[in-house]
Amino acid sequence: MKTILMDLQGTLGGDPLGDISSFEFYPKVLKGLKLLADHGYRLVVVTNQSRISKGNISKEIYEAKKNEIVLEVKKFGISNLEFYCCPHTRDDGCSCKKPKTGLFEKANSYIKIDKENSYMIGDMGMSDMMFAHNIGIKKILVLTGVGAGSLNEYRDTWIKTEPNFIAEGFYEASLWLTNNS
Ligand SMILES: [Mg+2]
Repeated sequence: MKTILMDLQGTLGGDPLGDISSFEFYPKVLKGLKLLADHGYRLVVVTNQSRISKGNISKEIYEAKKNEIVLEVKKFGISNLEFYCCPHTRDDGCSCKKPKTGLFEKANSYIKIDKENSYMIGDMGMSDMMFAHNIGIKKILVLTGVGAGSLNEYRDTWIKTEPNFIAEGFYEASLWLTNNS
């Protein structure tokens, strides 16, 4: 199934370097999600939450906030927002912390992802763009969150790859996608 994989914080809303608890959608992101859902995309959030492993936020708080977000998008007419989360730190040696591909594999084992027609959208080159690169799917960098920094002072951390498109924000990315696919 054609799928949009997407980062959470810095991409859909919230604090790009913090945890999920303060998450609120950026302007027009819900409109963007609706547009993508209406164009038949499966919507999959892939999020690194290392503060869970560090003990800074509990798994219960993460789950409660996630359920709140899913309910909010449902009220907006989007019934298919899925979440896949890596709770680990780098030292845990997991296979799911982006840019590793474990979250993709988990989502792919649930419903097969059509890689040719799928995209990753995110704000961090080193994790999100390299995640897409490691999977072998197309990618869009958004300039919200740490996106602008990813393009400038941190460009060397993901120099191996190029985004297929650079968007002001998630809504602009969804417009580009639905006009070009
Ligand atoms: Mg991010």
